[in-house]
Amino acid sequence: MSAFSTDVRILTCPHCGAPIQLARQGGQIPCGYCRAPLTIAARDDAPLQQGGSSLLSEPERIQGLWAQAASFGDKQLPPEMLAVLAGGALTTDRVGGALGVWRTYCQRASAGDFAAGELAVLMTGSISSYFAVVAKDLQRQRALFESTLDALRDPSHKQVVRCSLARFSMRAGDLPSAQVWFGACDPRSADLQADTAYRVTYASLATAHGDFRNVLAALGPAPGSIPVALPSRLHVGVLRANAVERSGDLATAIAQLVAEAQALPGGRQAIPEIAEASPHLQLCPQSIPLARMQW
Ligand SMILES: [Zn+2]
Repeated sequence: MSAFSTDVRILTCPHCGAPIQLARQGGQIPCGYCRAPLTIAARDDAPLQQGGSSLLSEPERIQGLWAQAASFGDKQLPPEMLAVLAGGALTTDRVGGALGVWRTYCQRASAGDFAAGELAVLMTGSISSYFAVVAKDLQRQRALFESTLDALRDPSHKQVVRCSLARFSMRAGDLPSAQVWFGACDPRSADLQADTAYRVTYASLATAHGDFRNVLAALGPAPGSIPVALPSRLHVGVLRANAVERSGDLATAIAQLVAEAQALPGGRQAIPEIAEASPHLQLCPQSIPLARMQW
C-alpha cells in the first residue's frame, strides 16, 4: 500500500500532530502517539460541485479564467505567514511554527472562512515540501494534505488539494489511488487555480499512459494558449514540451523550453528541477539537455 492509498484515511492528530491511520469509513480510535480519543468521519469522495460554473458556457468560463490569470498575484500574504516562510524553504527549526499557522487557517476554513481556506492550501504546499524533501516522511505529508482536505469547505480549494494527492499517488506508483483522488474533481471549474490543478493532473495522468495527444488537448499546443495560474506555468510548460517531443517535434519542444526559461525569473533552474521531481514520467529526455545549451 502506498502512503497515498485511498483505501485508508491518514490524518494529522489534532492534539499532537502525529499521523493517524484508520479505515476509509472512519471510526473511533485513540491516537497512537498521545492516546487522545479521536472520532473520525468517513472520507467524502463525492464529486466536487462548483457553485454556478455549470451555468456558464465554455467560452464564458475560459474568458473568466483569462481575467483571473491577468490579475494573479495581486494578493498580499498575511504577516504571520510571511514570518514563518521568510528565509525560503522550511527548515526543521521553523516547521513547528509553520504547522501552528497551518492549523489556525484550517480551523478558520472549516468554519467557512474562504480566505483562510486559500491560505491553508498555500501553507500545505510549503510544509509539504519540507516533509517530502527534508524529513522524507511521506506519511506525514499525506496526513497534512488529507487533514487540509477535511477542513476546507470551498470546492475549488478542495480540488487543488485532491489534484496534489493524485499526483503524489502517481509518483508513488499508485495509479488506482490517483484515479480516486482525481475522480471527484470538476473538469469545468470557473476558478483559475482549480482549473490549472485539473489540467496539470490530467496531463500528468495522460503522460503516464503515453497519451500525448490528450496532454496537448489539456494544455494547448504552445505557451500562452490556455489560461494558467502563474505558479504552475513552468510545470505546464515542461509537460507540454515533453508531449511535443514525444510526438516527434524535438525542435519545437526545445524552442518552447528556451522561450519559457527566458520569460520567467528562475526558469533556467526550475525547468530541470520539475523534470527531476517526476522521475516516473521521464519528462523531456532530449529537449531539456539541448535547451540548456541555448538558454
Ligand atoms: Zn496525538
